[in-house]
Amino acid sequence: MEDLYIVNRLKSAFFDYISENKVNGSIDEVISELTAILQRELYLKSAVFYFYNKKTDSLSSHKTIDYIPLHSIPHIFENGQAFRYGEELLIPIHVNKDMIGIIHALESNRILADAELAQIVRACSSFYSASMNMGLVSNDDRKYEKLYLLTEKFHSLLDKDEVLIELITTLQSMYDEYIFYLFLSHDNDSDLKLPIKDLAFDDQDGNGMAMEAYVTGNVQLSHEEKDAHTILYSPLKGKQGVYGVLQVVVNNGANIEEDDKNFIIMLANTAGTALENAQLYEQSKRLIKDLQLINETSHRLNKNLRLTDTMTFMSSRIMDSFDADEVGLFYLNEDGTIDIFPGSTPFFNTSEVQPYVDFIRQKLENDLEGLFIGDMTSYLDDATYASIMAVPMVQSDTLKGCALVLNKKSYHFSFDMFKLLQSLIHHSTLALTNSLLREELETLVKTDHLTQLFSRNYMNNVIESSMKVDRQGTFILIDIDNFKRINDTFGHQTGDDVLVQVADIIRGYVRENDIGARWGGEELAIYLPQVDLQSGIAIAERIVKKVGEKTNPSVTISAGVSYWNAESEKSFDRLFSKADRGLYVAKDKGKNRVVVQV
Ligand code: GH3
Ligand code: MG
Ligand code: MG
Repeated sequence: MEDLYIVNRLKSAFFDYISENKVNGSIDEVISELTAILQRELYLKSAVFYFYNKKTDSLSSHKTIDYIPLHSIPHIFENGQAFRYGEELLIPIHVNKDMIGIIHALESNRILADAELAQIVRACSSFYSASMNMGLVSNDDRKYEKLYLLTEKFHSLLDKDEVLIELITTLQSMYDEYIFYLFLSHDNDSDLKLPIKDLAFDDQDGNGMAMEAYVTGNVQLSHEEKDAHTILYSPLKGKQGVYGVLQVVVNNGANIEEDDKNFIIMLANTAGTALENAQLYEQSKRLIKDLQLINETSHRLNKNLRLTDTMTFMSSRIMDSFDADEVGLFYLNEDGTIDIFPGSTPFFNTSEVQPYVDFIRQKLENDLEGLFIGDMTSYLDDATYASIMAVPMVQSDTLKGCALVLNKKSYHFSFDMFKLLQSLIHHSTLALTNSLLREELETLVKTDHLTQLFSRNYMNNVIESSMKVDRQGTFILIDIDNFKRINDTFGHQTGDDVLVQVADIIRGYVRENDIGARWGGEELAIYLPQVDLQSGIAIAERIVKKVGEKTNPSVTISAGVSYWNAESEKSFDRLFSKADRGLYVAKDKGKNRVVVQV
């Protein structure tokens, strides 16, 4: 039973080792464990493992390059048995039916029996195969565990750079014998300390294989016999596109195992999906910011601010959001001339702007989509501003104006920025043209259409602000005498005509800062800021005289004059009611005269 005893001890030592699950799969570990257990349990003096190379029919140490020049080795092992000569013992190791190695042992005093040897040979092969398999399995387990952890980590990363860093450091730590590079398209502007190559320019060694992988989304493999290296190009592929290419360089004639290759490809795809997520996240963040900008701008525009404020606000937002050097907003008048809106940068008031405006205007008239130019120098020879975005303001299919955004650096603006500018302008045009109309309307309302004198309302405002800034002022209220009779005698049309004649005479007497207004009906008024009472009376008298002389059919007018200065109460109502009182007195005293009321 002693023979079985030593074999059983060996088997149980093997079993212990495997069941304790200490195997980490490296061939070195399995071999050194195998030889150590053999030596210990079989009382051997030594036990050394040699790989058997079937092709060359030779043995080699797995640690050193020592050869054992033993020829026709298989023939000495009949039926897979151990072979003994003297105290030396050769134990073959088989995986399946193939002999993959031999253990060379020196026996001590304890000489193993043939029956024992037969079982030992089988136990060694079983141990070797089982450990290697377990090693492979647990190695795979570990890899997929790593992949799982990494996938989880990838998906928690919302930053593209972090994904790339994680990918490269993981791969580099798992495969220190390979060299990894990332091919990214050149619009990736991160300045990471990663082995990043530019897809378009850096692919000299791959003959376009990186590009091929990028464009097709398929893995590319190149093998160079002369440099003895293999290069793998694995696309970083997400659901919607390819985000880059991972390059794996394997030097010194080594090969990428099929398993490792698949693992790396899988990892690259996981990174691709993670990059996609990060990109979508960045996009949605940007989109939210863009929407906020549009929202805020439309809101401001709809608040009925004055055109000047609106335009200044828009320009400053555009400057900020697009990191622009110059922003100009134009309005195209119906007669073809251009107005530059307030808020435009000072550059737009220089003559330098003309070539840009001419160029853009011509383009926009043909294409209402707008202009997006990365390098203006190819159109305008010494253009100072290379990057140009021009978006037209269109209303009812007609070109109303244009926003022009400039930067000196070429290709400064992204297409996304252009899209944002388009929607910003699109959302603002209606509000802008509305507020333009409002301003037009205001000038319309400012003047009386029959006499072309200012409106009463406008004059009120002028007097009120004059009372704030000036020291004195004179107000003259005029009413045409017996006007009803003119209408009755000559008709309403002639009445109107006489009204215009009187207005023209008034206009002849007012200077730049004075204003004449139609107060209502056949009542007219004059306000003379900074004019003292005596001068005001003189002007009123001259007008009364002139009207009596020059109108046809002839009419006369009566006038009430009032005056304010720093000492008097600064009230428009008082100023008016005094003049009205004066006018009443003038009528009462026989008309065609001036009456002062202070
Ligand atoms: P007085 O002021 O001297 O007391 O006599 P009046 O005839 O001018 O009397 P009143 O002020 O009462 O009448 C004003 C008339 O002026 C009445 C109206 O028909 C006429 N009138 C007012 N606005 C216009 C206008 O825009 N065009 C014409 N043709 N007539 C107007
Ligand atoms: Mg009247
Ligand atoms: Mg009258």
